[in-house]
Amino acid sequence: MSKIRKSESGSYCLGIESSADDFGIGIASFNGEILANQSDCYIPTEGGIHPREAARHHAETADKVLRQALNKAGIKPSDLTCIAFSQGPGLGPCLRTGATVARALASYLQIPLVGVNHSVAHIEIGKLKTGAKDPVTLYASGGNTMVTAYESGRYRVFGETLDIALGNCLDVFAREAGLKHKQGVPLGAAVEQLAAGGGRLVSLPYVVKGMDLSLSGLLTAATAQLHGGNCSLEDLCYSLQEHAFSMVSEVTERALAHTEKKEVLLTGGVAANKRLQSMLNVIAEEHAAKFSVVPLQYATDNGAMIAWTGVLAFQHGLTTPIDTSYVRLRWRVDKVDVPWIR
Ligand code: AMP
Ligand code: MG
Repeated sequence: MSKIRKSESGSYCLGIESSADDFGIGIASFNGEILANQSDCYIPTEGGIHPREAARHHAETADKVLRQALNKAGIKPSDLTCIAFSQGPGLGPCLRTGATVARALASYLQIPLVGVNHSVAHIEIGKLKTGAKDPVTLYASGGNTMVTAYESGRYRVFGETLDIALGNCLDVFAREAGLKHKQGVPLGAAVEQLAAGGGRLVSLPYVVKGMDLSLSGLLTAATAQLHGGNCSLEDLCYSLQEHAFSMVSEVTERALAHTEKKEVLLTGGVAANKRLQSMLNVIAEEHAAKFSVVPLQYATDNGAMIAWTGVLAFQHGLTTPIDTSYVRLRWRVDKVDVPWIR
């Protein structure tokens, strides 16, 4: 039987993020203060994320990141009210490692466990940190690319990628070009830096189908141009960004026109990109909507977003019994009730 604990200084939720390459632990107070947001990123020696290797990284660093988060927040485990974890979508072995840590903590501390949808968490941390109330959101990361907006109890998907995610498209191209992921400089940021030195627009596939988009043909064509050797890497990075970002911006604009919402929010790891930010800003202005972008430290996968969404869910009576706390690899954002929004 779980007991609900409330310390003198307030109530806190500890959130665990482990859906892909980042292992993060955040601590949020029930009034929306982020007390800690610690993480450690798995960097493959070569190629993309290997799920089992990433999961091993998470298991090895969990203890360190947990201690860092508790120290940073200045609280003891006994001060925690609930434990939230990223339940999906994501890579199975990675999600399971975070879930195991979460279950162990909740069980040992005898406090409730809260399974959080990773995509909902990216939207909620964006809203918390920017003050956006009811935005059309472009969530673009290494594993997800979608345009959502709240309607009748859920975040609805207005458009999404039909194949690869925007961040993945940039990352694979960067690796083809021989760029290396360094701690603190993701591959997408390396593409952004090179793009700033380019300016000749190379024609590449632009695929928007209805409200959805496809990035795999763009990646194939850009990679072929790269190996063809007739374009500079700077011009190709520039052209890849211009095409891909225009596609996601077009879908975002259509969702904005359809919903007539008055806010646009950009969230997820690719939100760090200044060129993408400026394109969306122009679109928001044209529709008299306010544009907001999630702050950099909350853009990429992080534990704080899980902790904060855990608070919202917990406050609305949503907890997850340990014996049914399976991870959900393909848990869509539009399958999740968000009763904290009215
Ligand atoms: P996430 O999946 O949310 O952890 O975000 C990671 C993704 O964001 C990776 O695909 C990165 O390459 C991408 N990313 C990070 N910084 C930038 C940037 N400045 N421009 C474009 N993509 C970026
Ligand atoms: Mg990540």
